[in-house]
Amino acid sequence: MSETIETWFDQPLVFTIAARHVRGRFVRLGPVLNTIMAAHSYPPVAERLLAEALVLTVLLGSTLKADGGQMTLQAQTGGGPIELLVCDYRGGELRGYLKFDAERLAEAGLDPTLFALFGEGFLAITFDQEATNERYQGIVPLEGASIGEAAEHYFEQSEQISSLIKLAARHDAEAGCVAGGMLLQHLPEGEVGRDRLHVRHDVPEWEHAKAIGATLKGEELTDPAISLETLAWRLFHEDEVRVEPGVTVSRGCRCSTDYFAGVLAQFPEAEQRDMADDQGKIVVDCAFCSRIFPIALEEIATHH
Ligand SMILES: [Zn+2]
Repeated sequence: MSETIETWFDQPLVFTIAARHVRGRFVRLGPVLNTIMAAHSYPPVAERLLAEALVLTVLLGSTLKADGGQMTLQAQTGGGPIELLVCDYRGGELRGYLKFDAERLAEAGLDPTLFALFGEGFLAITFDQEATNERYQGIVPLEGASIGEAAEHYFEQSEQISSLIKLAARHDAEAGCVAGGMLLQHLPEGEVGRDRLHVRHDVPEWEHAKAIGATLKGEELTDPAISLETLAWRLFHEDEVRVEPGVTVSRGCRCSTDYFAGVLAQFPEAEQRDMADDQGKIVVDCAFCSRIFPIALEEIATHH
């Protein structure tokens, strides 16, 4: 074991417990999270939700092979105060935002349930594998106590993989927003190329690992004094655990003048002229990072 593996902020820790056919990862986001949040002014409830969703996005997205694939997490509201939540991950680059009705969100209180936030909403998880041009999307109801629990249902239903997901977020004056999470999964024995229909759900070694994982506290995930490696040892010390650092996460937004010009080019020209200001420019702001792009009509014309 290398002595340099510790991992504190913005870099996942990947671990495997071979004897129990269990794999997992931890991540704690700090500086990246504050960069993402700084582009918006979210009330505490919205910030915590987005922070947990971003952690979940890293936990899931970083399972992609490093070949330019993308993972997108989108929560579609069922009439709740959170109207939309979108996060995506691509090669270590993370971004996300949410839209909400401020008045209704305030009415939901300080610790709303998932239902109070989204109503009868849905969580869509999409994996785009660029190398093979494969796209896989699973959609599950936004049910359970947290967005992490909804994601557990995704793995259970779409991939037949038993999973435990823990997410936590907090905000304090010193560190700003800090959020952490753990993904723990039971790998079907000889997982590659095997028919997963026959996965048993009463596997004792998985039940044991899951019970241990369930003791992990939110405060541990967001405590900057505990490294992710320490967390792994603390939980699974009775087993042989192999750990390795994951890809460092940064805030990455793929917005550009060219991108928005391409989107606007799909509107009829008359509508484009209506949208333009006196200088013949359409001003667009990126929902993810809040950057503002004045796009000239001539620029849009080059995209036809
Ligand atoms: Zn952007």
